[in-house]
Amino acid sequence: KAKESGKNRYWLYQADMSLIAQNRLTLEQRLRRALERGEFVLYYQPQVDVVSGKLLGMEALLRWKHPEAGIIPPLKFIPIAEETGLILPIGEWVLRTAIAQNVAWQRKGLSHLRIAVNLSGRQLLQENLVERVKTILEEEQMEGKWLELEITESVAIHDLELTIRVLSEFKKMGVHIAIDDFGIGYSSLSYLKLFPIDTLKVDQSFIRDSLHNAENGTIVSTIIGLARDLNFLAIAEGVETEAQYEFLKEQACTGIQGYLISRPLPAAEMTTLLNLVHENEDKVPVSVEQPS
Ligand code: C2E
Ligand code: MG
Ligand code: MG
Ligand code: MG
Repeated sequence: KAKESGKNRYWLYQADMSLIAQNRLTLEQRLRRALERGEFVLYYQPQVDVVSGKLLGMEALLRWKHPEAGIIPPLKFIPIAEETGLILPIGEWVLRTAIAQNVAWQRKGLSHLRIAVNLSGRQLLQENLVERVKTILEEEQMEGKWLELEITESVAIHDLELTIRVLSEFKKMGVHIAIDDFGIGYSSLSYLKLFPIDTLKVDQSFIRDSLHNAENGTIVSTIIGLARDLNFLAIAEGVETEAQYEFLKEQACTGIQGYLISRPLPAAEMTTLLNLVHENEDKVPVSVEQPS
């Protein structure tokens, strides 16, 4: 009996695996089609200066607007896009769209902000990434200084020499570099002095509990101090409460990004927000949820 159920489990496992394999295949095909059909969209999340409350920049975040399933978040499909290499054409679309959108806002006089774009590991390893970014910047007529590229620690240290070479090329173009999800990469800190980094983004997992968990609070203030000592900006991700904001202000964090200020917004809603900020330039800080 036991043997039989063991066997059943085996077959179940086999069935699961082929189902997953099948799903992967169709998901790959669907991703390919999604790109062709223009089902990807970018949302934009503002980053705000902790002291002045003014907009510092924004991050472009990818969504898949599925005709039936609705908005699909990136973590549901980016891993497969990475595995299949589709992240390369998708990533190129993200870069072009984010840059074109930023130029459109700048031309309307709505913003002079830097736009941050996430780069995947596969993109960084791409042969001619620097050339492609350069071409897109030229074609869309945006100066490199208005672009920030976000890479995670694990991606950055995967191939040190390549990363140093690529990031130095970006630096020459005036492009800013941010280390995303900083603090969860289990890596040595020595790489920080090897790369031309502008910004450390404190991972949201530390922010979430920074007030109720002494260790996380300590980690947050340590990362902010490290950024300051190395002359990097520090941006805290996932800031949701007024109390977290106050804590980050005390720690002299440079900027915050999170639901407290705004969720990531579709382009049209970001345009509305930028208009609002523009009209009230000298009046109020941009906090959407005003402190009570
Ligand atoms: P990330 O780059 O660390 O982006 C921050 C994530 O935190 C976003 O999730 C954002 O919506 C979310 N977030 C922002 N504020 C808050 C908050 O106050 N509370 C909470 N709970 N979450 C907040 P999202 O958009 O689902 O993106 C997840 C990840 O997917 C990103 O993490 C990034 O690693 C990746 N990703 C997004 N867009 C792209 C892209 O265009 N290319 C690549 N390669 N990766 C992308
Ligand atoms: Mg990011
Ligand atoms: Mg992050
Ligand atoms: Mg992340």
